[in-house]
Order: sequence, then structure tokens, then C-alpha cells
Amino acid sequence: MNKSDSERLATGLKELGLQENNDLESSDVIVLNTCVVRQSAEDTATGLLGKLKKIKRVKPEIVVAVMGCMVGPTSKTLSQRFPHVDAWARPQEFEKILEPVSQFVDNDISGCAPVLIPDKPKVTTFIPIIHGCDKFCSFCIIPYRRGREKSRAISEIFEETRLLVDRGVKEVTLLGQNVDSYGHDLNPQSDLADLFYSIHEIEGLERIRFLTSHPNDMSIKIIEAIRDLPKVCESINLPFQAGDNEILKVMRRGYSREEYFDKINLIRETIPNVSMTTDLIIGFPSETESQFYKSVEVLEKVRFDKVHASIYSERPGTIASRKHEDNISVEEKKRRLQVILSLQEKICSENNLRFQDQDLEVLVEGEKNGKLFGRSRLDKLVYLEGDKNIIGQLIMVKILQSTPWSLYGSIDSKIQSDFINVY
Ligand code: SF4
Repeated sequence: MNKSDSERLATGLKELGLQENNDLESSDVIVLNTCVVRQSAEDTATGLLGKLKKIKRVKPEIVVAVMGCMVGPTSKTLSQRFPHVDAWARPQEFEKILEPVSQFVDNDISGCAPVLIPDKPKVTTFIPIIHGCDKFCSFCIIPYRRGREKSRAISEIFEETRLLVDRGVKEVTLLGQNVDSYGHDLNPQSDLADLFYSIHEIEGLERIRFLTSHPNDMSIKIIEAIRDLPKVCESINLPFQAGDNEILKVMRRGYSREEYFDKINLIRETIPNVSMTTDLIIGFPSETESQFYKSVEVLEKVRFDKVHASIYSERPGTIASRKHEDNISVEEKKRRLQVILSLQEKICSENNLRFQDQDLEVLVEGEKNGKLFGRSRLDKLVYLEGDKNIIGQLIMVKILQSTPWSLYGSIDSKIQSDFINVY
């Protein structure tokens, strides 16, 4: 979400005539886009604000702006604490930054704000479709900072996607804190499946992905749309967060482990070749050893393609922080994390073996350390040898080797020449 917001704001700033500059000291406009999902991230942002204070003291004419989740419903307290900041903007409040910058450069803001779409976007890009979250999981600060769910209209997202595709984008990832609840607040009501069907029609768009799902809101209609629409990739991130029912209850996740398994089964029965990834919190307050092993069991049973595991850290302002003491030691949390990482490495290694000798369709995204890289439909990172001019193309790649985290392949020359002929 933040990456997408930064790209959009950068587009507006370029429209105003500014150029990107990564050196703080020599910049005329400095924007700090903040994440506060963890207290440590907020502390980093606060530390940077101290550094910016010194720069502003030497060059009082520059514009310093802060955007993102650090800016809560009211920025009054923040502006008292950090008087050297000229503009405060909550997520997507781009005008609040573009306005003072336009005065600074003495340029007209009109025409910059409505279409904040990069001129030369990357081949894959993110499109936020719903902002905020209504769920209030006990460990999470997001609903307090990003507010309640607010969906963007299908027509607006369609138009933005079409424009991005015209400018070279081949793959879009539809974003939301809870992307599956998209559309419930629109009039008339709609859902993520309706949005899939709508943008699927866009000529030139090759792939559609989406992040992040909530088990309770992933409906059969959405699951069937993933199965039925060729452009929607069969790759689903479905966080389970904990494998024990007591912990899930205290987390206020709204489902039991049995219900989670039912949802996984429904997805796998409907979309046989689906790849599943998940998020897991380790060491939630009072999590016992046996409750932790319930999470381990979920991993063994579901055999996810990727697990984003993080150790619990108290987040002031959340229900968990108010009601539950963070009583698992850091050493114990790290030990449990190691158990998860070792197990998941083994599972990923076994899962990825199945791709060896297979031909996978890869969207080539760029070059790193002399190798091209891209992703398969199932969101597998694939490295390959080849000429840079295939960046941005869908290519068939024969997989020769696999590791737990990525695949290595070569371009099948016959398939590639057929592909180039078709396109
Ligand atoms: S669903 Fe996700 S964003 Fe919403 S409160 Fe729960 S963890 Fe936070």
C-alpha cells in the first residue's frame, strides 16, 4: 500500500516539475511515507523526523511532509510535537502534500492530482482497491490508523487499470488490507469477483493478482472467479495467524482452525493447482508450547508455498496491548520462529521440486546480478538466462533446478519463437 502511495505521490510531484533525489541534504522537498504496523517502524519514522529537523533548521525554505499511517485521524498532536513539518497527510491524501509543494515551486496544482499514474510504470504494478479495515484483530493498529473500509468504484479502478496497461503494465495486483471485503460499501453493492470480471476485459492486461485475503470474506463466488477467469492467477495469500482456537479467539480473528481448514479445502477442491501462502504470528501473549505446536500442525497439514512468520511485538494502541501482557521472552519467540523457518524451508523445498522439468509461463520483470527474473502464475520467483529485451514479456521457461525460495530455468527456444510469432 505504501509503495503504491509513494509511486502515486512521486507522479504528482514530477507533474509539478520536481525531479527525484535520494540525497536528503540537497533536496528541496522531502516526503516521509510512514508505516506504523510495528512500534519499531514508528520509532524509525520518529528518529528520521529528528534528522529532518536539523536539515530544516539549516534550510528553512524547504518543504518537509509526512504521509502514511503515522498520521492518524488528527495530526494536531503530531504538528505540536514536530513543528518543522509543513504538511501532514493520511494515506492517499495526496493533495495535502501537492498543494504546499505547488506553492513552493509556484506552479499550478490543477490537473496534477486527479490522475496520479506513472508515465512509465513497471511491467507489474499495485492498484489499491479498498482502504482501511473493519476487522479489529486484537494485535493490529491498522483500523485505528487507516480507518474503516472504503472501496473505490469499479469504473474508477477499470479506468486506472486501462491507462496503466496502455502505458505498458502487464500485471496488476489489487490491494486491500482485506481485499475480499471489496465492494460491500458500494452502491449498488458489488464484490471482488465482479471487479475481476470487469478488468478481465481489458485488452493487453495479462495477469491479475490480489492481496491480502481474510478467511471469513473469501466467498465461493470469489474462489470460482479465480478458477474461471484465465487472467486471475491461482495464487492466494490466506493468513491464519495462529493454529490454536483459544489464541485465535483472543486475537479476534473470527474463525476457528476447523473453519480455516474448511476454507482451504474448499479452495483446493475448486482450484486444484492453486498455490497458497499465509501469515503467522509467533509468541502471542500466553501462547503455550502446545498452542504453538498447533500452528506447526497447520503448516504440516496445509503445506503452504510461503509463510510470512513474524514474532509478536506489543503494539501500543491495540486491544492486545491493553489487555494482554507480552509475557513470552524474546529468546523463546526466536526459538519458535526457528522451528517454523526450518520446517517451512523443508516444505518449500519439497513443494518446488514438483516444478522441475516443467514449462512455466513467466512474466520477465527485470534483471538482478546478471540474471533475468520474473514470476510464474503461482507467484514462484524464477531466474533465467536471456537477453534483456525480453523484460516485460511472457515467456515459457523450462525449469531445470529448484531451491526452497526460487526456481532456475532456461528459455525453451521453440516455445519462445512460437510466442514471439503470436505476439
Ligand atoms: S484483517 Fe488484517 S488489517 Fe484488518 S485488523 Fe485484522 S490484521 Fe489488521
